[in-house]
Amino acid sequence: SIMPATLASVSNGAKRGVLFKGGVHLEHFGSLKTIAFDKTGTLTTGKPIVTDFYTRENVESEVALDILSSIESQSNHPLAIAITNFAKENGVVPKERIEIEDVPGHGIRALINNEEYLVGNPRFVGREIAEDFKEGLALKLAEEGKTVIFLSDSKGIVAIAALRDTLREEAVVAIQSLKDLGIYTVMLTGDNEKTAAVIAKEAGLDSYIAECLPETKVEQLKILMKKYKSVGMVGDGINDAPALATATSGIAMGDGTDVALETADIVLMQNDLRRISYAIKLSRKMQRIVK
Ligand code: ADP
Ligand code: MG
Repeated sequence: SIMPATLASVSNGAKRGVLFKGGVHLEHFGSLKTIAFDKTGTLTTGKPIVTDFYTRENVESEVALDILSSIESQSNHPLAIAITNFAKENGVVPKERIEIEDVPGHGIRALINNEEYLVGNPRFVGREIAEDFKEGLALKLAEEGKTVIFLSDSKGIVAIAALRDTLREEAVVAIQSLKDLGIYTVMLTGDNEKTAAVIAKEAGLDSYIAECLPETKVEQLKILMKKYKSVGMVGDGINDAPALATATSGIAMGDGTDVALETADIVLMQNDLRRISYAIKLSRKMQRIVK
């Protein structure tokens, strides 16, 4: 049975836009020692924009952008939407539907006129490209906190697009207030090491783990749970759902995908990260009343 104090606190939380799917989740919340955050759509607004676009020598921008946007227009990934919009703004209209294969956490494989194209991160598009990434232009872009996306064909890199996402305006304050409560903060992201480092520093997080696949997020959570026992996970995407289910407290952004909202124990209705520390204080206060 649910304690009257719990009921009152759940209801207070709901008034402030924190939806607890049951009193037990509010009871757990005050004991969290660590909170892990997804990057895109959680710490950031999830609406990246293309800031830079480069092509291979002798490849015209319009041609590369046509191929790239024809592929990305088939996907509803935030990066894909940004690239499709960028193409439209530059007067490039994607071709008729082409066959693509979505490779979650990596990118997209596509076949156009018998040529295989890969779109995604350096790990996905190939080893030589990843090598170039270490020294070249892409590294400079990543050090600016941008996500770098490669388009490759059988001859190598066709184009590089850099995209910048912005931190949610309350992110820095929200993270600081969690640290003030003694909570260790971590970012788990599918993005590359360099970009992750810049964003984690901007947000003021204690640490970060980059290049996570959905299953890596789960593995990392399990490692954190071994060490800290009580660990929260905040996310918005389909790729976060397994981690949300694994965490002591799964927290979904209100604008997240249906799967994230269904899997989570707690929903931040207004996407306001500051509500996490509010809810922790609420839970701790309630635990004092109950005891
Ligand atoms: P996150 O954990 O940051 O939300 P994802 O797991 O969705 O990210 O994606 C991880 C990485 O895979 C992206 O940073 C990007 O490099 C690559 N990627 C995934 N989907 C796409 C796509 N449609 N187009 C280009 N790159 C993609
Ligand atoms: Mg996300």
